[in-house]
Amino acid sequence: MLVYSRDCLRHVQAPGHVESPHRLEAITRKLESLNLFDPKTPEPAARAMIERVHAKAYVDLVETMGDGYLDIDTAVRPETPEIARIAAGGVVEAALASVKGRRPAFALVRPPGHHAGPDYGGGFCYFNGVAVAAAVLRERLSRIAILDLDAHHGNGTRDIFATSKDVLYVSTHQSGIYPGTGPAGDVGEGPGEGYTVNIPFPARSGDASYELAFREVIEPVLRQFQPEAILVSLGADAHYKDPLTMLALSSPGYLTLAERTLDVARTLCKNRVAFALEGGYHPQALAEVVAGTVALFRGESVHLQFRDVADETARGKEAVDRVKRVLGPYWDL
Ligand SMILES: [Zn+2]
Repeated sequence: MLVYSRDCLRHVQAPGHVESPHRLEAITRKLESLNLFDPKTPEPAARAMIERVHAKAYVDLVETMGDGYLDIDTAVRPETPEIARIAAGGVVEAALASVKGRRPAFALVRPPGHHAGPDYGGGFCYFNGVAVAAAVLRERLSRIAILDLDAHHGNGTRDIFATSKDVLYVSTHQSGIYPGTGPAGDVGEGPGEGYTVNIPFPARSGDASYELAFREVIEPVLRQFQPEAILVSLGADAHYKDPLTMLALSSPGYLTLAERTLDVARTLCKNRVAFALEGGYHPQALAEVVAGTVALFRGESVHLQFRDVADETARGKEAVDRVKRVLGPYWDL
């Protein structure tokens, strides 16, 4: 099940900005060529829904800014708030459809959301769609897991749910790049201690490192947490073709992770799993990762162009071992 709005193409940053409409255009073209493009159009998320995870003062700031900037790379224009609410609404729609229909869903939306926190935006993000969707699902279900596979740490999602034990946040990301948060030692706060899992990889970590993290940390934690639904912040910027990061996942590597996530969702939470697009700045690599994931929903596979495996020895093993030590008091790993 796909959610997509043409309005998401109307969101334009500065000329030449990597977070451009070409990203979504490449994805929809690829899906159309494979006969996989049959989307539903979402409603914009209502303000009250946005305010479940963002402070009213911050929502006011974005809604009334007109022309301005949240940070040097994140422009606000008069149309931005509406498009950001459509993007968030798309994630909510995909999440609700996956819960109702007990089948995977994908929200093909932009701008992305995972760097937007309780009272701030930035990093190309305004409203945190995955966080809004988790808050909406949390009203119906007891435990929600968020798996953030974007190459950057989702500081916004982390901050929104840092004190929650009902919303588990798990992030794999490249250590030391924007936004500079997400060390292994950050396990959440107060009642949410242990329910934030950060797996920061060194540069050039790829397929073997991610598979190790899934096997030794992510899958065991999910099995013990027993989520009733899973939301995936899917960024394809951990791909070796990506211009912004130094991670090295291949397209088949990404699809192995998607397949394992779908397996976990089938086993643990009745197929209630929704993917939302975050980053990914090499349009062709992004398009084949997303199309491959959507094809997996139907048990199909697509031809993959970008197959180079650069990390056969699990360069991130030490990082994974450290995460296991840090999480020892909270989870049986
Ligand atoms: Zn990213």
